[in-house]
Amino acid sequence: MRPKNAEIVEIVPETPTVRTLRFDLAFDAVPGQYLMVWVRGVDEVPMSISYKDGITVQLVGEATRAIFDLEVGDGLGLRGPLGNGFSLLGDSILLVGGGVGAAPLAFLGEAAKERGIEVTTILGVRCCGDLIFRERFRRIGELVITTDDGSLGICGRASAGLSCLNLQEFHQIYLCGPEPMMADVIGRCRGMETKIQASIDRYFKCGMGICGSCSIDPSGIRPCVEGPVIRADELVGTEFGRYKRGPSGRKK
Ligand SMILES: Cc1cc2nc3c(=O)[nH]c(=O)nc-3n(C[C@H](O)[C@H](O)[C@H](O)COP(=O)(O)OP(=O)(O)OC[C@H]3O[C@@H](n4cnc5c(N)ncnc54)[C@H](O)[C@@H]3O)c2cc1C
Repeated sequence: MRPKNAEIVEIVPETPTVRTLRFDLAFDAVPGQYLMVWVRGVDEVPMSISYKDGITVQLVGEATRAIFDLEVGDGLGLRGPLGNGFSLLGDSILLVGGGVGAAPLAFLGEAAKERGIEVTTILGVRCCGDLIFRERFRRIGELVITTDDGSLGICGRASAGLSCLNLQEFHQIYLCGPEPMMADVIGRCRGMETKIQASIDRYFKCGMGICGSCSIDPSGIRPCVEGPVIRADELVGTEFGRYKRGPSGRKK
């Protein structure tokens, strides 16, 4: 699949280090699918679709710095939508997002609400200034906020928000965020693994299942095509929560 050129029509600052880019192209995407975003002359990196015509980017390194330097009217090459996306199941669901992991979950929550599904969300961030899409999630349903520093909501990690909910009420739980957070939530929901869908962050190069750079030990699941959304029971006993591989394939 060749990248399509997309022009940036709007840039929305969400926090000092996170911004949303809206494009002149809209994607018929399943929430949880991603785009390979080609920053010409720099790199091509995976980004979840956060609106049918947008992505939400956290500034971390070279490619995301180059994205932050772009202005309205500039272009990016976009390949996608790629991957499987989340499966919406049941009448009552829980979303658990950490940091910029809230991006695909907001898109998912809106699709769920449209279908009449009851949505509860836990958003975990380091401090209140890191929170994104608060109003978007409030419009979808009940929102529980956790902050590591206690500046808003419950003091603690996203998993601390689980204790104020009856988990058995949810037909499905959806996770996206830092891997230790997702592993912690899965660990606290023992016996519910088949009801948990997690969006996995691995080093994606081709986005087509060819290069094997994102493969998970020992199952060999390729998150770029068979994911990025993987059911928790398929993650048990794998590298998930223990290590991942960098660009050279070396464990980190
Ligand atoms: C399926 C998926 C969806 C993602 N969605 C989002 C999103 O919605 N918003 C967002 O801000 N970030 C998202 N990311 C992470 C994003 O791809 C990285 O933050 C980005 O690639 C960093 O590139 P960089 O050059 O700025 O940083 P670098 O300095 O090159 O790297 C910093 C870190 O970013 C990660 N990274 C770098 N290149 C890649 C790559 N090709 N594939 C995967 N990880 C990489 C690595 O962990 C690396 O250590 C997603 C990742 C995946 C796998």
